[in-house]
Amino acid sequence: MADPAPASPNPPPHLATEARWGEWRQQLSNRIRTIEELREWIDITPAEVEAIERCRGRYRWSITQYYASLMDRHDENCPIRLQAVPSPGEFVEYLGAEIDPVGDMVYRKTNRVIHKYPDRVALLVTSVCPVYCRHCTRKYHTTNVDGTYFEEREGASFEPDIQYIADHPEIRDVLLTGGDPLMYTDQKLEALLRALRDIPHVEILRIGSRFPVFMPARITPELCRMLESLHPVWLNTQFNHPKEVTPEAAAACDMLLRHGIPVQNQSVLLKGVNDDAGTMRNLVQALLRIRVRPYYLYHCDNVSGVSHFMTSLEEGREIMEQLLGFTTGFSVPQYVLTTDYGKIPASRQVVHRDEDGNVWVENYKKQKKNLGLILR
Ligand SMILES: *Cc1c(COP(=O)(O)O)cnc(C)c1O
Ligand code: SF4
Repeated sequence: MADPAPASPNPPPHLATEARWGEWRQQLSNRIRTIEELREWIDITPAEVEAIERCRGRYRWSITQYYASLMDRHDENCPIRLQAVPSPGEFVEYLGAEIDPVGDMVYRKTNRVIHKYPDRVALLVTSVCPVYCRHCTRKYHTTNVDGTYFEEREGASFEPDIQYIADHPEIRDVLLTGGDPLMYTDQKLEALLRALRDIPHVEILRIGSRFPVFMPARITPELCRMLESLHPVWLNTQFNHPKEVTPEAAAACDMLLRHGIPVQNQSVLLKGVNDDAGTMRNLVQALLRIRVRPYYLYHCDNVSGVSHFMTSLEEGREIMEQLLGFTTGFSVPQYVLTTDYGKIPASRQVVHRDEDGNVWVENYKKQKKNLGLILR
């Protein structure tokens, strides 16, 4: 059995306890935001220093002390470090890279509502996060590039957004995203969730948050009780590497689950982080041990500033083929490509019909078989 990361791999001793267990608002204000602070945790390379400096005015960065404690001090290719510490790849212009390849802006009906699918919407609650993932699909939310980020509108009232949802009875599922909605205080979040809950046709509320990964201390009994009072509430998070599945993260997910909030995982396939079958298998199996269900594996989109994390579709399929059938069925996420046409299942086709109408299947061992005409 692969073990989760050891409890305290790398914190400077004077920070060890607070970093993991301190009050969450305190932890937020103690986030690492300067090169000097980051040096307490890792040996920063000159390339990282340069990238951090180039981020100013372009891409936000900050790292929670807890997440930094999972980093390898000496290894610049540490999978935790790659997700959180700026690197020169963010400033390389890749062919075909776009600010918004998935077309979120096209489907934006109000300042905050993205209505892309018939019966559900994404609600952009905020543009801030505890840690800014270097691979964020909505990296434009975390930039200062003109017109691409909420800017002063962020403080704007939710009234037009709530009104839009209320005016569209087909919307039965509201997904709070951003940015990270759990950046809000419980009071502010509750007010928003209650306003949505008061809309009769809104059946389920979903929260997308990386707090269980970045700062498990944010998941408190008070938060869980509040969410429980608004059921059905689901939470989708994003573990990308088995090192992130720590005892603290496990405790946070357990608390959510005990309050009836299903926790699902949406990973991103990232070069150098989790683009090999062994790591991915360890990740999904670690998630099952903490009762978090793998939901999606996103192919990394060609987002400006993110392209260096892209793998090929073929590499993604190869990893999927080494999971499907080889481990617990419900540990296998759905591999999807996000496009402006919606999410597209990206796994290899394994059932097809030939010209004579025979149905062919290919199993997880890549054995092909003709089932003949037994299926319609
Ligand atoms: C992914 C996504 C959803 C939710 O899709 P599910 O497949 O139901 O998880 C909703 N809106 C937008 C804009 C999305 O990108
Ligand atoms: S937590 Fe989500 S929204 Fe925030 S930077 Fe990471 S991927 Fe982007």
